[in-house]
Amino acid sequence: MCFFDQVMWTCGDWKWDRFRQHCNREYRTGETCGMKLVYAVARSNDKCKICQKIDAKLRRRSAEVAKIQRWQSEGSKLKASIERSYEIVKDLDQEIYQLQIEKQRKTQAIGKSR
Ligand SMILES: [Zn+2]
Repeated sequence: MCFFDQVMWTCGDWKWDRFRQHCNREYRTGETCGMKLVYAVARSNDKCKICQKIDAKLRRRSAEVAKIQRWQSEGSKLKASIERSYEIVKDLDQEIYQLQIEKQRKTQAIGKSR
């Protein structure tokens, strides 16, 4: 078990940071063993990169949804525009979903790798 700093973001996600200290077991080899222990936690004032991306896409999505609702309540004849906005919302949903998967994968990988 070797000691590393940990960065904690406001969204609750975290990552390993700098290596700090070897454990007794691996001290002589100069290698770090697979097990990581927290040396110190640094709290960030931001969300992690992926959550920031997700937030940006969610904002974009609600702007599109608001546009669609406005057009529909006005009884707009802008059928092509409405359809295009629907497409954008669908694409954003897909991208947000991918980012969430990426986030999950990262958290799992970090837990195991050195
Ligand atoms: Zn996050």
